[in-house]
Amino acid sequence: MKVGIVGAGMVGSAAGYALALRGGASEIVLVDRSLAFARAQAEDISHAVPFAHPCRVLAGEYGALEGADMVILAAGVAQKAGESRLSLLSRNADVFAQVIAGVRNAAPDAILLVASNPVDIMTDVAQRISGLPAARVIGSGTILDSARFRSLIAGHLGIAPQSVHAYVLGEHGDSEVLAWASARAASQPVERFAAQVGAAITQDVRDRIDDGVRRAAYRIIEGKGATWYGIGAGLARIVQAVGGDQRSVLSVSIVTPEVEGVSDVALSLPRVVGREGVIATLRPELSGTESDALRRSAEMLKDTASRL
Ligand code: ADP
Repeated sequence: MKVGIVGAGMVGSAAGYALALRGGASEIVLVDRSLAFARAQAEDISHAVPFAHPCRVLAGEYGALEGADMVILAAGVAQKAGESRLSLLSRNADVFAQVIAGVRNAAPDAILLVASNPVDIMTDVAQRISGLPAARVIGSGTILDSARFRSLIAGHLGIAPQSVHAYVLGEHGDSEVLAWASARAASQPVERFAAQVGAAITQDVRDRIDDGVRRAAYRIIEGKGATWYGIGAGLARIVQAVGGDQRSVLSVSIVTPEVEGVSDVALSLPRVVGREGVIATLRPELSGTESDALRRSAEMLKDTASRL
């Protein structure tokens, strides 16, 4: 599997590094506005390869993406402290118009994996500009938020995150929805599991977990300016699902025909991900409050995207 990465900054390089360490790509090609920078990042990542899986890590211009099966779009300008994801929008939409033209020219069949924020809007923008089917333009969406949600529930219950299934839906950002009603631990509703191990999920616990998921990026940005390792690993996870035709169920963002009465909006729902991109979308069971919150999240995203 040949994987391109456009934007060799913190997120793009972290994705390349995670991919090199996890395995799943035979070739990784980094492209950036600055070729010298892309070359330096590629050389640095290639030095991790002898300690990981066989893989060629290169840098080049857009032409070097020829034959890529998947291209990660991580170009753009970074989110500043206190800046909402949505305020990044206009700056990053301009970058995408240029980047997607270059990618489509070199690798017209590649699945696009959008990482730049605000990721749901950028996914919508990428799908519109590229003209590709929605199933082949995937945003990392809430993959990381769902992972945080699972690990915080798991930590409270004293079990491994792998034994928890729970999803964060809607926007990757302030309006995201933690789907408690469908959260399961060892196939049981989490409240029932919690009662059996004497770790009740009180309102305080819910609030703490909600804050831990929803505010995580803000806390990291406050401490170190931006986030990259978690999302880098999340992107590598999506690439593996596609490359291995794994049909894993991941919460990722694509333009979706209808969500809670809102049409053609890019947001995250649990989706089956394999070789052709998104193969199916699932609708988790939601409480009335959760459905309302998902509708509001969808309306907000739709409204922002339609103003472009
Ligand atoms: P992040 O934390 O989101 O990765 P960075 O600023 O570290 O942010 O990385 C963004 C990368 O995108 C930079 O390396 C920058 O050079 C690159 N970039 C910005 N605009 C373009 C563009 N038009 N084409 C290709 N790369 C771009």
